Formats: sequence, structure tokens, C-alpha cells
Amino acid sequence: GNKNINAKLVLLGDVGAGKSSLVLRFVKGQFVEFQESTIGAAFFSQTVAVNDATVKFEIWDTAGQERYHSLAPMYYRGAAAAIIVYDITNKDSFERAKKWVQELQAQGNSNMVMALAGNKSDLLDARKVAAEEAKTYGEENGLFFMETSAKAATNVNDLFYEIAKRLPRL
Ligand code: GDP
Ligand code: MG
Repeated sequence: GNKNINAKLVLLGDVGAGKSSLVLRFVKGQFVEFQESTIGAAFFSQTVAVNDATVKFEIWDTAGQERYHSLAPMYYRGAAAAIIVYDITNKDSFERAKKWVQELQAQGNSNMVMALAGNKSDLLDARKVAAEEAKTYGEENGLFFMETSAKAATNVNDLFYEIAKRLPRL
């Protein structure tokens, strides 16, 4: 039969990579050019239907707390899934994303589903991180990788859908 799964999902990555924008696009279908770093509400929920299950994501967005790294463990504790976001136009944000991956591999749930999102794929002319490099990194580290654009709505629903498919069926 069809299963109902509740899954806590967190987004990690540099300030400005587009975490809040991905959430806003996924949950409300909107994009804001000048997203405030403190958008108030930190919790969203959205449901995705995959073939054998209905997954209700409980999404925790940070309101800029990602600057304070020490708060992170509290934030990702109990998460079934994490999206590690970088900005394809910012090499540092990719290096930072790798640090988050290492931390989650060391400290997170052992069966956490991890996705690497190279966001702002609409800004092709300003690209600093090759898709191939990120894809290889993802393969070597057990994450699945997608380039996304919260602005152009590219691969945002797909990203959450792929996570929903990969969650363990209890
Ligand atoms: P956060 O700090 O990781 O939550 O990043 P935000 O969601 O606040 O986004 C930071 C800035 O990048 C904002 O000005 C957004 O409008 C912009 N932004 C986010 N996603 C995209 C995208 O896919 N394409 C473009 N061009 N800009 C984006
Ligand atoms: Mg944000």
C-alpha cells in the first residue's frame, strides 16, 4: 500500500548560495530577487508523492544562523535528508559545501539522504564551478548531484522528488 513518510530536511551551505530561495520556490512557487536573510519563518512543510509513498517534508531553513557554525548540529539533528547548496558562480561556496558534506558524514544520521545542489544555474556566464567536477565529487562521496535554479525554477521540484525517492521506507 501507499506509505506516509515524514522527513525532516535541512539545507546547509554558504550564506547567499540560495537555500531560502530554493525553499521558497519549492514550497510557494515564488522567487524574490532580494531575498532577506531573515525571513522570519524557519519552518515549512510540503508534500511530494512518489510511486509507493507520500513524503511530507518538514523543511528547516536557517535565518542566517549558518554564519554561526556551532549551531549547526542542533539544526541537522534528526534530519532524514540534507541539501548542501553552493552557488555555481562562487568557488568558495563549493569548497564550503564540501566541508558541510564532511561534517554530515562524520556527525549526521548514518542513513541520511544527501543531495548536492549547484544553484544559480541560470547564471551560466558567471560559472566558476564546472558541473563535471561537482558531479564527480558527488559520486565519490555518495551524494546525488543536480544543478538548480531557484530563479528559473529549474530542477527544484526534481531535487526534492529525487530525495523523496531515496528516503528509506520504514
Ligand atoms: P541563502 O543565504 O543561502 O538563504 O540565499 P538566498 O536564498 O537568500 O539567496 C541569496 C541571493 O541569491 C538572493 O539575492 C537571491 O535572489 C539570489 N538567488 C537565489 N537563488 C538564485 C538563482 O537560482 N539564480 C539567481 N540568479 N539568483 C539566485
Ligand atoms: Mg537564507
